[in-house]
Amino acid sequence: MSETKHVFPNERMKRVKMSGGIREILSKAEQMEREGRSIIHMEIGRPDFDSPQCAKDRVVWALNNGQVHYTDMGGTQELREEISKKYCRENNMKVDPVKNVVVTAGGAMEALSATMLTLCNPGDEVIVPVPYFSAYADVLAICGLNIVPVEPREGSLEPSAKNIERAITQKTAAILINTPNNPSGTVFSKKCLEEIAEVAQRRDIWVVSDECYEKFLYDGVHISIASLPGMENRTVTVASASKTWSMTGWRVGWIIAPEQMRPFVNKCHQNLVTCANAFAQAGVAEAFRSADADVKEMVSEYRRRRDMVLNYIKNTDGLSLDIPQGAFYAFPLVDKIKDGTLTGFEFCEKLLEEAGVSAVPGDVFGMPGHIRLAYCREYEYIEEGMKRVKKFVESL
Ligand code: PMP
Repeated sequence: MSETKHVFPNERMKRVKMSGGIREILSKAEQMEREGRSIIHMEIGRPDFDSPQCAKDRVVWALNNGQVHYTDMGGTQELREEISKKYCRENNMKVDPVKNVVVTAGGAMEALSATMLTLCNPGDEVIVPVPYFSAYADVLAICGLNIVPVEPREGSLEPSAKNIERAITQKTAAILINTPNNPSGTVFSKKCLEEIAEVAQRRDIWVVSDECYEKFLYDGVHISIASLPGMENRTVTVASASKTWSMTGWRVGWIIAPEQMRPFVNKCHQNLVTCANAFAQAGVAEAFRSADADVKEMVSEYRRRRDMVLNYIKNTDGLSLDIPQGAFYAFPLVDKIKDGTLTGFEFCEKLLEEAGVSAVPGDVFGMPGHIRLAYCREYEYIEEGMKRVKKFVESL
């Protein structure tokens, strides 16, 4: 058979980086492990806890009780009701299970892709404050959109509404924000969100708010930008069960969309994936009802780890950081990268090869100079990682 005349990659995939991301760093670290090296994984943001027992039991029940078919495209009524109750009760939002909620089959990732495909036209620009979750760049590229990274406020890791406004052009469709933030752990203040909301309204653009880590708060409060005055009809909130209940493999997420947009995003979702897994939805609905204690326990353990990681960083010459108030990442500034001795990639490569710690350079998140350390493994394991990081940085 002759070879196809179509040349890969196509225009869409040409814009997606095929190497150098978190997954590639993880693969390299795993390969070194297979070769017998002792590696501490601080690269990947995958919670280490089991999913709540009540959710797992409910899945078994659902499987044995006929929940094995397609559900409503937008999610089971049961789960949509739990989601809307939670947002009304905790996030100060008005959310109707039928008019506003779509349950997704690929966690927050599908929620983001379906949202972007629904809101934006090909070639539109999406403003994303740095540092940002690395997959945003790929999702936007795959949707045919252009990412416009904007620098944070001077001396802070919080977005700057002024910088966001300066980046707006005729082609700007949306601003994509994420609080608590991956990779920095920053929790955006009410003032910061109010300023972004003011710009979005005055300049008439959408806000997409990724709130995957909202339960992981050590200081401060979580505010949904959709709850601020005038934002209800121009904000899409995306989140998932992945981090909250340590359910990354369940792949259930959701979109809270304004009423006028919901039918369109639901149609988009329907044609991408049909609907979310029926029995997984039953388990997630149970987690909403009965797993608060599990979340509390996890958050208290993450806080213990955060405090330990912070302590090591504070006591390491050559590292400095803003205190992460949420999520499970520390994002220290590294003097030897900042002063140009090493690039972020060179630093992380040496850290992996010489000290056996796998971390991600800030470059991957649009913010060179920093590295991201994920503390979502056991306390003692992370402490061993931090001892190695300290020794390595101080030996440079
Ligand atoms: N948004 C952010 C900020 C994330 O960190 C992640 C996962 N690392 C996701 C979205 C995607 O999560 P999921 O698809 O598992 O819900």
